[in-house]
Amino acid sequence: MSKINEGMDLNDPQKKLVFAINQRNEEKYGPYHEECGLFQEFCRCYNTKDQELKKKESKKYDKEKEGVANKIISELQGLIYDFKPENKSDFLNYIGNIICQFDADIAIKVMEDFGEEGKEEATRIKVIYGY
Ligand SMILES: [Zn+2]
Repeated sequence: MSKINEGMDLNDPQKKLVFAINQRNEEKYGPYHEECGLFQEFCRCYNTKDQELKKKESKKYDKEKEGVANKIISELQGLIYDFKPENKSDFLNYIGNIICQFDADIAIKVMEDFGEEGKEEATRIKVIYGY
């Protein structure tokens, strides 16, 4: 039993009735939750907190991935500039496959930055990884 009926004066007939109703509700809907004033079945406090936490974590994770993708993009731009691959599609295909071994999200982000050939490669990765 939660605190909802704590210290209730059961000599007062009205309070006694409230006590009985609370007790019945707790049996039906689970323990009363002080924070939101709802019985467990209607309480969304814990769910909401979990969802917010997950959202925050995934945002942080996305930011980290974006940072990694940007670093790879700049390295890859240098690589293409210095070595001028004959076939950009093939070249990006190899690089895409390599990055995918670590993280397909990052591979897609990177590829989308490399023109038409890159976009095709990104699409190919999306198909393979079921996006
Ligand atoms: Zn609650």
